[in-house]
Amino acid sequence: MICLICRQAETVDGLTSVNFERGEMKLVVNSVPARVCPSCGEAYVDEAVAVQLLREAKKISEAGTLNDVIEYNHLP
Ligand SMILES: [Zn+2]
Repeated sequence: MICLICRQAETVDGLTSVNFERGEMKLVVNSVPARVCPSCGEAYVDEAVAVQLLREAKKISEAGTLNDVIEYNHLP
């Protein structure tokens, strides 16, 4: 698909990092599969993946963890 931000390039399969901030809680998930724009670097994460990440962020937040960095392929 054409990048929605810059409209300059076709996105390609790649990996990105996703950040969550919820109050005091900060979570970074690395190596998330996404479509990445080679022109501006914008990353588009599939909805199924985004839902999974949100669920994980909620779990980590409820466990009282304030700062966490995890790899996407380490998720259950
Ligand atoms: Zn772009």
